[in-house]
Amino acid sequence: MDDAVFYRELPKVELHAHLNGSVSVQTMEKLISQKQHLNIDHSRTAVGKGQSRTLDECFEVFRVIHKLVDTDEDILMVTTDVIKEFAADGVKYLELRSTPREEKATGLTKRSYVETVIKAIHQCKNEGVDIDVRFLVAIDRRNGMEVALETVKLAEEFMLSSGGLVVGIDLSGDPTVGHGKNFLPALERARNSGLKLALHLSEVPSQQEESALLLNLPPDRIGHGTFLHPEMGGSQSLLDKVVQNNIPLELCLTSNVKGQTVPCYSQHHFKYWYQLGHPSVICTDDKGVFCTDLSQEYQLAASTFGLSREAVWTLSQRAIDCCFAEESVKQQLRQTWKSLRPRLFQ
Ligand code: 5GP
Repeated sequence: MDDAVFYRELPKVELHAHLNGSVSVQTMEKLISQKQHLNIDHSRTAVGKGQSRTLDECFEVFRVIHKLVDTDEDILMVTTDVIKEFAADGVKYLELRSTPREEKATGLTKRSYVETVIKAIHQCKNEGVDIDVRFLVAIDRRNGMEVALETVKLAEEFMLSSGGLVVGIDLSGDPTVGHGKNFLPALERARNSGLKLALHLSEVPSQQEESALLLNLPPDRIGHGTFLHPEMGGSQSLLDKVVQNNIPLELCLTSNVKGQTVPCYSQHHFKYWYQLGHPSVICTDDKGVFCTDLSQEYQLAASTFGLSREAVWTLSQRAIDCCFAEESVKQQLRQTWKSLRPRLFQ
């Protein structure tokens, strides 16, 4: 079996995927042609092969995408397209995350935003798309603590009314804006009400104080964590907190290299955490913006760090342990992995 087939057929779990960052070129084409008056071209919605952007410029890309995705119909289309694309890439379990937005001009509200994402998940399930999907409601740190609290309340409501589809909270957005301590009350409330916490931590240098505070919660998973460990300017005490609490890391190679927070693939912190034997999950972050998919990310990790197919299999299988869905879902996923293994290793 050649590599491309192996990695696509490999059953995979995707735990760190921002909805609007995951919109593919094909879907973007539909949006651009429906909204020609916005005069947006593809070069502003994605970072192509061999290109990179500063983190600041990446956040500008999201602002452009948000202009294109601003109605309930758009949310429904991008969510169903994204789910189907992940399924076609061999992803069996997906946790999507997205920041509820309101757009007065189109009638989009934060509530209808979440409702529409849930509707899209149901729609895909009803169509028989072979993937289990959950939703994390995202807090954009740029919007401050009051909005964060509102977001948590909305997530709590949907956790109860969505039949277990809303499972947690994500803290994301421009890491250079605001201080994580402002979000502690909202995050504590979320945790106390049963929502899981996936927090972007130490994505840029000099966030040690913030990371130490947020690690005390503790989060259930860490997004990126690029500068947590001592070799990257983090500290032993941060490392100890992550290791002692066994908090899985969501690691996104292409995103970090194209977003210039990591200088090159071989210096990606995946190596550090993987060698430590710490739960490390390969993810895409923004497959649309960074022009990648989860199969490519696994293949990239394997070729950069010399992982055998057996090691890659174990890596994808261990990601099941880090899902926010209930234990019965994890058991089902383990069965799926077991039944697919012979085909990959015949
Ligand atoms: P959305 O929440 O609109 O579905 O997805 C795009 C949003 O996800 C961005 O506006 C940003 O708040 C967040 N996001 C996407 N990628 C990253 C990333 O690499 N780092 C951080 N901190 N936030 C991100």
